[in-house]
Amino acid sequence: MTNELSMKNIIKNFGSFQALNKVDFTVQKGEIHALLGANGAGKSTLMKILCGAYDEYEGKIYKDGGEISISSPKEAKRHGIGIVHQEVDVALIPSLSVAENIVLDVQASKKSKTFVNWKSIYKKAEEALALLGSSLSVRKNVVDLTLSEKQQVLIARAIVQNVDYLILDEPTAPLSVEETKQLFSVMRELKKNGVGIIYISHRLQEVVDICDRLTVLKDGRYVATKETSHTSIEDVITLMLGTASVKQWVKKSVEVGNQLLHVEALSLPGRLSNISFHVKEGEVVGIAGLVGAGKTELCRSLFGLEQYVSGSVRLKDKKLKLNKQPYYYIAQGLSLVPEERRKEGIFVHESIADNLVLPSLSRFTNYSFLKRGKIKEKAQKTTGQVGVKSHSIEQSVGTLSGGNQQKVAIGKWLVTDSDVLLFDEPTKGVDVGSKREIFDLITNLVSQQKGVVYATCEFEELLGVADRIYVMYNGKIVKELSKEEATSEKLFYYTAGGVKG
Ligand code: ADP
Ligand code: MG
Repeated sequence: MTNELSMKNIIKNFGSFQALNKVDFTVQKGEIHALLGANGAGKSTLMKILCGAYDEYEGKIYKDGGEISISSPKEAKRHGIGIVHQEVDVALIPSLSVAENIVLDVQASKKSKTFVNWKSIYKKAEEALALLGSSLSVRKNVVDLTLSEKQQVLIARAIVQNVDYLILDEPTAPLSVEETKQLFSVMRELKKNGVGIIYISHRLQEVVDICDRLTVLKDGRYVATKETSHTSIEDVITLMLGTASVKQWVKKSVEVGNQLLHVEALSLPGRLSNISFHVKEGEVVGIAGLVGAGKTELCRSLFGLEQYVSGSVRLKDKKLKLNKQPYYYIAQGLSLVPEERRKEGIFVHESIADNLVLPSLSRFTNYSFLKRGKIKEKAQKTTGQVGVKSHSIEQSVGTLSGGNQQKVAIGKWLVTDSDVLLFDEPTKGVDVGSKREIFDLITNLVSQQKGVVYATCEFEELLGVADRIYVMYNGKIVKELSKEEATSEKLFYYTAGGVKG
């Protein structure tokens, strides 16, 4: 076969865990080919093999009918394969300029290493960005860029290398609607120039719109390859999930009481529009959405971490002011366990005890003297309650596992005694055992008639833990589902941009 890149019988193990089990995958030049599958299906691993990130794997790779060897990024580049990684940040050098980051690889492979022609570097970088329709300044330092600008740099870097095949691993997640449209026009342009594009995304409506074919993986195995013109979102979801979708956790039903939180027409310019929902005592309300749907912005808007929020928010009988500082909301009885736990939710260098009492410090001071004894007592009790595994409450939080850090982040709100707790992706990066404990904690909270908002892209968790689920897509609530109505299929459908019903 000419004009195609093909992977055959790919096996990849991480220790005793098999991430890929005899996977086949073929992309042609001049086509946009989607690689799909639920979280953990093996998409990123397969693409990392293709771009030379791993040197140990089984199976064969062919380009234009001939076998090729790829066991380093250099070899992948030599065969004209470029990738824009899911983790945009790690692929760039923050202290260098946009231009240097774009031309970096080409420059490094040039023969003359002593003479740097800045004029040509800037020109090359500018041309690549212009092709992307980007107005980014090539002299800016990468450290000052937004996520979507960083991504533009990575795509421009691939363009200057004249790749034959370009892999985009979940590129639209950090992008706004406008930026996404821009990216799609670039993809179409590259396709016209004969580039084969591999596109990984969970936004299935977009996938079906822009891609020519799609391949689905499930649990590290190849499932099927289809033409998108003959495939609906529902078909794709069935391929991705298989038939039996199992509920892993089932929360005990708690008597639902009075209305606690009432949000109406909440908007955040460019990110959220007209969000309305409510939470009752004893209720776990799920917010389902893909990365970038607006879940994090919603949580942050309610907690005073965004500016220019409009709309109306009532907590119990009180109308809350908007755009105040977090401590205002804490005092009103609202709290947030944030997604970026290490950046916002905990202080990694401080002890467990200090982390736990920090938001309620005023209760542990006598004028300006800290009541150390009381802090210790409260911290001891709370670590017990949330099940933090540590040597002592004086251990610094940075030395705990992800799951235990998360329990500290949750525990500090138990100390403040909030009425409504917002959880943003609470199980991200935690092990299965800690997940279980986080669910138990949530069940415990609602049995005390508190209200919980649980925002996540892990739909199976929502099916187990939530009493009602709101689905977000592109900054809007597009669907409300009761516990009885909700299924994996529906959550995948509506979060992916499906609009029927
Ligand atoms: P996807 O991109 O489809 O979400 P990945 O390819 O990232 O999935 O991961 C597939 C599986 O392999 C997951 O279970 C993941 O935890 C595991 N995995 C990926 N990379 C590693 C690694 N470096 N070490 C151990 N396990 C890994
Ligand atoms: Mg991935």
